[in-house]
Amino acid sequence: MYDIIIIGGGLAGLVSSIQLSKGGKKVLLIEKKKYPFHRVCGEYISNETRPFLESIGLDFNKLSVKEISKFQFTSPSGRILETDLDLGGFGISRYKIDLALYQLAMSVGVEFLLENTVESVDFKDDKFTVETSFATFESRFVIGTFGKRTKLDATLKRDFFNKRSPYIGVKYHIKTNFPKDLIALHNFKDGYCGISAIEDDKYCLCYLTTRDNLRKHGTISEMEKNILWKNPHLHKIFTESEFIYDKPEVINEISFVPKTTIENHILMAGDAAGLITPLCGNGMAMAIHGAKILSDSILQNFTNRNLVEKTYQKNWKKHFEKRLWIGRNVQKLFGNEVVSEIALSSLKTFKSALRFIIKATHGEIF
Ligand SMILES: Cc1cc2nc3c(=O)[nH]c(=O)nc-3n(C[C@H](O)[C@H](O)[C@H](O)COP(=O)(O)OP(=O)(O)OC[C@H]3O[C@@H](n4cnc5c(N)ncnc54)[C@H](O)[C@@H]3O)c2cc1C
Repeated sequence: MYDIIIIGGGLAGLVSSIQLSKGGKKVLLIEKKKYPFHRVCGEYISNETRPFLESIGLDFNKLSVKEISKFQFTSPSGRILETDLDLGGFGISRYKIDLALYQLAMSVGVEFLLENTVESVDFKDDKFTVETSFATFESRFVIGTFGKRTKLDATLKRDFFNKRSPYIGVKYHIKTNFPKDLIALHNFKDGYCGISAIEDDKYCLCYLTTRDNLRKHGTISEMEKNILWKNPHLHKIFTESEFIYDKPEVINEISFVPKTTIENHILMAGDAAGLITPLCGNGMAMAIHGAKILSDSILQNFTNRNLVEKTYQKNWKKHFEKRLWIGRNVQKLFGNEVVSEIALSSLKTFKSALRFIIKATHGEIF
């Protein structure tokens, strides 16, 4: 019998496991893959997370993160707008930061079951039964940090699962000539592509587009040549860089629709509770902050499930509901070729709007 079983070991799952284990709880984290591994993600993390990550024991000196303080936005035809990032952030691959958090979690006593997929979760008589294909476990609490979309969402009959989403994500690691302190977001027809530095002189190149864009061109490489390369900045990056992977990491069915934070008493955090559009850039900070809020609620009210649920739901809404709403609406405006051209043709007005959006979709240091 565990105090808490955590399903999914991305940032939200790993951070809550560390905090709960440090708080004296017996924690099991079940992850379907084996560390380290790559994920589709832009790999830029807002500095709002940094003091908290340091406080739980993450050693930034060992990670050689890249400090990022400037933001560049380009329209599909290549017009440029640049602004400072008030709070800034850092670049590091998920391969590296997830591994570092996994090692930290092991060192504080979290138990791991890797290469196991949770297939069902039942709540009965005030306790959970969690099943993987190989074993069954019991716990007082279950945290769902299983990311954007997984079969378990279907098993739990979550509403959003039946609504198809048109978005796909593609990621590469590259070596290129690009400023280390800059994150750029290059727009193209029905999508946008981010580039920023990570560790070891590498860069993360990651884009979001629609399945339709891919279908029209047949393959990822044809779509890139015919659509992304029309933006001259992307043309330069794609033709003048060294691509480190043999093939890109790809995911589909990326959905930004609202989700529930609690489902049959399972406490959801990170993307499982709601994903912010990458255009607004801050899903990892939200996953880390959400995990903190949830772990605090559990540690403070462990014997009172009702209070854990109420406190978590209230705090989650307070911190994230508005940010997610703004993210969804900004995506409608700026993920669009015509709108981003018009916006960049009126640079002065757009610069203030851009700074407002950055502020409204980023949180405070926590
Ligand atoms: C294209 C794109 C670019 C992005 N760029 C950025 C960026 O630059 N900056 C930023 O802050 N955010 C970015 N994000 C968002 C960010 O990647 C996510 O918000 C963040 O990864 C969420 O972390 P998480 O812990 O909730 O989920 P994840 O990191 O997805 O982890 C979920 C884990 O659960 C595991 N899992 C799933 N189902 C099961 C199961 N049944 N049993 C066991 N394990 C399971 C998975 O294997 C996975 O390891 C981007 C997102 C996209 C789509």
